[in-house]
Amino acid sequence: MAELRFSALREVFNRDHVEPAKSAKAVSEYFGENVFDLPKMEHFLSKEAYKAVKRAINEGKSLTRQDADLVATGLKAWAIGKGATHFTHWFHPLTDGTAEKHDGFVEFGDRGGMVEKFSGEFLVQSEPDASSFPSGGIRNTFEARGYTAWDVSSPVFIVGTTLCIPTIFVSYTGEALDYKAPLLKALTELDRAAVEVCQYFDKDVNKVIATLGSEQEYFLIDEALYYARPDLMLAERTLMGHQSSKDQQLSDHYFGSIPERVMSFMEDFEIEAHKLGIPVKTRHNEVAPNQFECAPIHEEVNLAVDHNQLLMDIMKRVARKHKFRVLFHEKPFAGINGSGKHNNWSMATNTGVNLLSPGKNPKSNLQFLTFLVNVVKAVYDNNAVLRASIMTQTNSYRLGGHEAPPAIISIFLGTYLSQMLDNIARKVTDTKMTPAQKTELKLGIGKIPEILLDNTDRNRTSPFAFTGNRFEFRAVGSSANCSQAMIVLNAAVADQLTEFKKDVDAIIKKGLNKDEAIFQVLKKYILESEKVLFEGDGYSAEWHKEANKRGLSNIESVPESVSQYLTDQGKKVLIGSGIFSEKELVSRCEVEYEKFTKKTQIESRVLGDLAINHIVPTAITYMTSLIENVKGLRAIFNDTEFERLSGQRKEVIITISDHISNIKKKVNEMVEARKKANKLEDAYQMAIAYEKDVKPYLDEIRYHIDKLELIVDNEIWPLPKYRELLFTR
Ligand code: ADP
Ligand code: MG
Repeated sequence: MAELRFSALREVFNRDHVEPAKSAKAVSEYFGENVFDLPKMEHFLSKEAYKAVKRAINEGKSLTRQDADLVATGLKAWAIGKGATHFTHWFHPLTDGTAEKHDGFVEFGDRGGMVEKFSGEFLVQSEPDASSFPSGGIRNTFEARGYTAWDVSSPVFIVGTTLCIPTIFVSYTGEALDYKAPLLKALTELDRAAVEVCQYFDKDVNKVIATLGSEQEYFLIDEALYYARPDLMLAERTLMGHQSSKDQQLSDHYFGSIPERVMSFMEDFEIEAHKLGIPVKTRHNEVAPNQFECAPIHEEVNLAVDHNQLLMDIMKRVARKHKFRVLFHEKPFAGINGSGKHNNWSMATNTGVNLLSPGKNPKSNLQFLTFLVNVVKAVYDNNAVLRASIMTQTNSYRLGGHEAPPAIISIFLGTYLSQMLDNIARKVTDTKMTPAQKTELKLGIGKIPEILLDNTDRNRTSPFAFTGNRFEFRAVGSSANCSQAMIVLNAAVADQLTEFKKDVDAIIKKGLNKDEAIFQVLKKYILESEKVLFEGDGYSAEWHKEANKRGLSNIESVPESVSQYLTDQGKKVLIGSGIFSEKELVSRCEVEYEKFTKKTQIESRVLGDLAINHIVPTAITYMTSLIENVKGLRAIFNDTEFERLSGQRKEVIITISDHISNIKKKVNEMVEARKKANKLEDAYQMAIAYEKDVKPYLDEIRYHIDKLELIVDNEIWPLPKYRELLFTR
């Protein structure tokens, strides 16, 4: 049975090095060559069509059919010139990946034969028969159709021979069935609310975009070893495996020199990414062995999300060429670091100002503090909803681990800014301030250093940290579609900024001047939300106690956490603003509950199968050989000698036998728990049952398997071990 394991290892050792498709050209020469961006539009489109697209992009509107026809003509010429034969509407359904259905350009011509055709109607709208995508009960199968519509703010691109058109995906009755549609709405809300607040400081601001740079962590595993691990293949994480004697204790992998084979893979996928206009910039080894990271330069959120989804796709594809498998799962290996996707987020104005970057004078710094404090308040008020946006079945194995942010959402600001907020809270008076008080306050604010990037101050344990000119939402999982976190964060900040405007205007109406009104509201917000600020070690047990005292929520249950979308606060922020309808939000929760249940069910089945048909038989084989050995000793030694020699062996036989019995018993119990849970009708109740009654068995069964792995003869152990998965490449 160990055949597969050893042949896989042999295969890894004999791997030929795959050279990357190196390009002699500088990146700047091929960056974006597979994207139908503005310069290409200008070249390929008629003046009229080009103007129409630009208008649609700027105004966030869709194209008319007539304009779409004009655009389609130019787009077709470009795409066919680049060898494209098919097109697809590329969208983000509520599954983990993206979806595409390819259609050829070919049609029968009038006089027979084939012609290439592509008109505006194909560009702007399509109707994939999408009945199998999760909808959380929005679509009954009899009205299964949904349609996709072009999102002009994200450019069209070519992968291989397919022209990909980024689209939103909605049901016939108008409900969103994807992540993109609500994300676009949240970003529009943020734009509106932030512009209004910016107007207090600068009348030239008429557009605010949110920016996102997502650091993507991942593991690489050799393909042969991957195929020898059914748990990795089916559940994307190892469900068993004893810790390797050495793993990340020495931190010798972190920022270490990148192994040659991995480097080839990185170079290859970076070239592809650059051709698709994805600005990847940073690459390095991460803390766990065989764990790596790649980060792009930040972009507007919607584009950044599309690019991250596309990047994950490219990485998976290119990895196969190099005989690797890339694992985006948040916790593929127990006991060592998992993978996250830090969402670096900020807001930028049309006047070129980063709203979370301190400026040069008191005025710009008051603007900076205004946005900073509003974000703090938004995160405090929407703590539970933000957690709901990042809590998934896979990410739950990582959160609260000793290397990942806890499920308590707190904010790290660094000593300087914490002090600053404290000053505002204490120095601003409730009545009209004296000129001297005002001058003192402004003087202090004017002195905020432009660069706050204090490396000694960086707190890696915070789920939501200020890092000098942006916030870093670190709790986001590595496999996540960032839209989920970005919808909630942007909606929450938009809602908060709207409140802020109301509060400030109300005070101005009472006769106070603008700056004073702003100070008063900021003071009030700081006092209301400072409980969310935490500078200490987020991994520590004391923090859990302290957070509890402060009344910060800490929900570790995934379904329970997801259900927080439907609290009053969740509804206010997500429904009140028109980003979701009640029906959409409810259905989204259903989808998440179902995903949780199904993923846990798959893990439970895979573990049960492997335990019974891989591990138990192997343990029995080894036990039998020990029994034979004991019988042999019996035959050739006298009683005293036999007792002395066989004692230890008999103990091992008993230990193995006990583990086997435990495994069998627990697998049976787990199957029964599943059967019981499956009978529940309500998706939430079923998810809770899977979490409380099924999931605990995964660890209990694993415990016995991992113990057996240490005892059973290495020669017959069927699955590649942790040391082999983590150290061979
Ligand atoms: P670190 O590991 O120190 O956090 P990285 O270089 O790995 O830094 O990643 C930082 C990420 O933050 C990059 O993707 C970068 O583009 C992004 N970033 C920087 N400034 C902003 C900003 N204003 N808005 C959004 N993201 C930003
Ligand atoms: Mg980083």
